Amino acid sequence: MLYIHNLGFPRIGAQRELKFALEDYWQGDLSAEALQSRALELRDTHWQQQRDLDWLPVGDFSLYDHVLDASALFGNLPIRACAPGVNPLSHYFRSARGRDPLANHLPDCKPAKMTKWFNTNYHYLVPEFDANTQFELHSQSLIQQVQRARQQGYLAKPVLLGPLTYLASGRSTDNTSVLAHLDSLLVQYSTLLQQLHRLGVEWVQLDEPILCTELDGEWQMAFRYAYQHLNNLPIKRLLTTYFGTLGDNRSLIASLPIQGLHIDCSHGPDDAHWAADCLPDTVTLSLGVVDGRNVWRCDVNALLQWLQPLYQQQNRDIWLAPSCSLLHVPHDLTLAQDLPDEVRQQLAFAVQKLDELVHIKQCLLAPDATQAATTSTTATHPTPRWDDALLQRSKPVNQRRALQQARLNLPVLPTTTIGSFPQTPEIRALRHQFRQGAIDDHAYERGMQDYITECIRQQEQCGLDVLVHGEPERTDMVEYFAEHLDGFAVCRSAWVQSYGSRCVRPPILHSDVQLPAPITVKWAHFAQQLTDKPIKGMLTGPITLLNWSFVRQDRPRWQVAEQIALALRAEIGALEQAGIHIIQVDEPALREGMPLRQSAHSDYLAWAVASFRLATSGVADSTQIHTHMCYARFEDIGDAIDAMDVDVISLETARLDAQQLKQIANLPVRAQMGCGVYDIHAPSVPSVADIERRISLLLVHLDAQRIWVNPDCGLKTRQWPQVRPALANMVTATHAWRRQL
Ligand code: GLN
Ligand code: ZN
Repeated sequence: MLYIHNLGFPRIGAQRELKFALEDYWQGDLSAEALQSRALELRDTHWQQQRDLDWLPVGDFSLYDHVLDASALFGNLPIRACAPGVNPLSHYFRSARGRDPLANHLPDCKPAKMTKWFNTNYHYLVPEFDANTQFELHSQSLIQQVQRARQQGYLAKPVLLGPLTYLASGRSTDNTSVLAHLDSLLVQYSTLLQQLHRLGVEWVQLDEPILCTELDGEWQMAFRYAYQHLNNLPIKRLLTTYFGTLGDNRSLIASLPIQGLHIDCSHGPDDAHWAADCLPDTVTLSLGVVDGRNVWRCDVNALLQWLQPLYQQQNRDIWLAPSCSLLHVPHDLTLAQDLPDEVRQQLAFAVQKLDELVHIKQCLLAPDATQAATTSTTATHPTPRWDDALLQRSKPVNQRRALQQARLNLPVLPTTTIGSFPQTPEIRALRHQFRQGAIDDHAYERGMQDYITECIRQQEQCGLDVLVHGEPERTDMVEYFAEHLDGFAVCRSAWVQSYGSRCVRPPILHSDVQLPAPITVKWAHFAQQLTDKPIKGMLTGPITLLNWSFVRQDRPRWQVAEQIALALRAEIGALEQAGIHIIQVDEPALREGMPLRQSAHSDYLAWAVASFRLATSGVADSTQIHTHMCYARFEDIGDAIDAMDVDVISLETARLDAQQLKQIANLPVRAQMGCGVYDIHAPSVPSVADIERRISLLLVHLDAQRIWVNPDCGLKTRQWPQVRPALANMVTATHAWRRQL
């Protein structure tokens, strides 16, 4: 038999309804009951939108995060977030955000750590374990959802995070092994599965995406042990793997007692063929044939070429699904009216992806029925040919230094910022009016220039050495460039959840990337003629533009990165021509593009670094290239960072301890280091003494000649009354040190 199902649906709402409900609730403007009932309505709507499926995922909806939901389900929210007599909803939100309106009498607590969900841009809340961890099942809400779905006539398939992925996503706060908790966790899973079985549930989905990563012997054994443990239960278990291929884990998976296996087919049909050939017919095969990580329509003809024969040879049940939860794509394409038709025709968002499943099922059942026209992305310009000389600056970094210093004449411990200044309501309003056509080019530019003038004046008053224009024209560091480069489209309603109520709008990179006209030059040039201090030009790098967009699939990623790099290379050349001799190319997403498997890291890093160099190596040796990478997490990729061959790299170092700083200092990186000396995420103003202490710590580990002083990251989310004194204190502290050196 052939069935279609879904692994998970976007939760935030087509119009971000959940976001607004949550934020109203957190503000105290919406009661907990009203929040719950809006969530219920939204869930019902989402079920409606999945009504064509044979099996409905239930329990994938979340008020904040599905990993936090698992922690709540198993009674493993951090103790500090909980208090007797307090509504469980408060425990939940206190775990996520440190506070909750229903528990205003409690002091704020430290929220759980947030980190990236595998190789996606979704952030989850990290479960915590320690020797005192005791699980306790709170399955009421899940059970109610299952009952409700059944009342509404759906065949409900509860979605659970698998026990091993749950443990692997967490961290132990006392150095005990997370696997030490497997036994007691399995007791809860067993009870839960029994409860679900008693409700009449036939299938349960157990998400184990860690099966697409490399697993050592201990974890493989834990898998065997855990699934053996769950084997005594009468409910059928669909083990879902996604975000990659099975690789070496195939034989492990074949040894597990499961009734169904889901495979992510967006990386090719090999794993599907393997499973079809090697798994017993009693195991249902769920094939993730519609890409859940991208927005392109499925090429049904190409898919059927391998799927049709596979399907016909099988005696087992086959299920078709998206490759992974649809959480990672926008909700509904019909809302995307601002996209050019020729782009929209190539796309499928969550709702459309389910339509594709229906269509693919029809094609398989009635092979002669008409098939969808093959879609193809438009590639008109071949990538210009270039040779490796374009990846090289003329001199090595150590020799470039003197040439740059001769031009810039900077003091020791130069001070600067990371680029953006506060995005005030006035600036947002100006951009909005311009977009709506309420003001003309001229008024917009004048407004921006006034703000840039103000930014320059403030920076001069603070006494900074290297200034920036402040980025007021940018809504977002990726979106702004996507709007101005050919080959990208920005869809203003295409939201994807990033964490909690926060969403991002990844641009859609649909065809060849080109620079039609310089993007940043006029702003940088305007800023430069206001001051004698050097202005640092500010760009988003090729790897970040790639990793934070939905990327066309008819070209390999390295080739697309190369196209972006060539466009940026032209922009950087134009900045240099306009008299900008310091240029920062931000790459906070370098690490995020890393493949899940270690074995693929070096390939990725090689082309990623090459694209950065292609963008930046065209400048004179006397021009200084900076990069900014936010979190300083690259113990293992120091060589790649060095290979980017920048002159200065700035990092978030303000919260690092001495040990971590030492690690950074010992990386095999020759560039100067712009060290964050205060945390911009906190709203408080750092004192001169705080910053002096921070600098003294830097001086222990790094040669003074290598250090730049800056805040941790951009200041766009801060407000002027904090930014002004913070920067002034940063400069004062730096001057105090300069006198002692
Ligand atoms: N230049 C950007 C800014 O200051 C950098 C932001 C980032 O790397 N996250 O906002
Ligand atoms: Zn940053």
